[in-house]
Amino acid sequence: MVSASPIIPRELRLVLTNKCNFACYFCFNEGYPKEFRSVDLAVVDYLMIVRQMVSEYGLKKVRISGGEPLVSPILPSLLRELRTTWPELDVGFTTNASLPHILKEILLDTDLGDVKINASVHSVDKARLQAICRTENVGGVLYSLQSLAESAAGRVKFNCVYTGGPRGDEDAMTVLALAEEFNVTVKLLCLNVNPYNQEDVLSGLAIKDVPAKPGTDAIYALARSLGYQAIPGRQNEMRKGDHCIEVVDCSISDPIAYYNNFRTIRIYFNSRVAVTGEFDGFCRSFSRLSPITAIRGLVADISAQFTRTAEQEP
Ligand code: SF4
Repeated sequence: MVSASPIIPRELRLVLTNKCNFACYFCFNEGYPKEFRSVDLAVVDYLMIVRQMVSEYGLKKVRISGGEPLVSPILPSLLRELRTTWPELDVGFTTNASLPHILKEILLDTDLGDVKINASVHSVDKARLQAICRTENVGGVLYSLQSLAESAAGRVKFNCVYTGGPRGDEDAMTVLALAEEFNVTVKLLCLNVNPYNQEDVLSGLAIKDVPAKPGTDAIYALARSLGYQAIPGRQNEMRKGDHCIEVVDCSISDPIAYYNNFRTIRIYFNSRVAVTGEFDGFCRSFSRLSPITAIRGLVADISAQFTRTAEQEP
């Protein structure tokens, strides 16, 4: 049964920059063309959006992504402003963990002691990481992961894009073994394909022997083979002893299926085109609108889609 009640966006993704020091062949770049280059905004611009969404929708969660947010000079100050202005907000960011000196500055800041950190790591094997991320500069990643596990335990998760096939299995197993040793939860994400990035993904296949889009079934099978078991009442999560993993199907593009699966609507805020929903088909430009007006329009579009679907229910 699909609810016709209005959809309330509780989670906001701030896409801080499109710049990144890696070039992962599967980079989703939050759905944008790889040529897309944002004009980076100032802290006050992001705070204005958060303020409006807190007052209008009761925003609960802010996640900062990119590109690589650590290459943006405003990340530490934006985090500090968010923590001090809205201590009740759940705040975090996703990073490729390649810049340990900047990460350390954030980790050592006691005002940021409850900021969540998702560190993306797709293999613990250096050569594989270089091939996946298409950079020689992966030296800092393992160092960062160790620091994160030691000084930020409990608020760190590892994000691992599962690329499928024997090599994908091997890569995921190396990450799971490290995470188990550190007792850090791993989010295993299905390889998703940004339609603007198809060529990269196809050329990336040359470094692996896998189907372009392995599904969650392959992840669950791998996890079961390693001794992980489903957790009753916890969809998409598995456990082995004390160690937990989450399985995330990033490829769901149908809004109803997405909502039913994740029970959330995310709004992405970027600096040029960009207010988008979590899934295909919902995007608002605010070049001629204020960002909050674009967000309202997007939320209305999504709500209308749900209402139409509910009316079609027998
Ligand atoms: S680290 Fe993230 S943003 Fe950078 S190229 Fe890889 S997937 Fe894209």
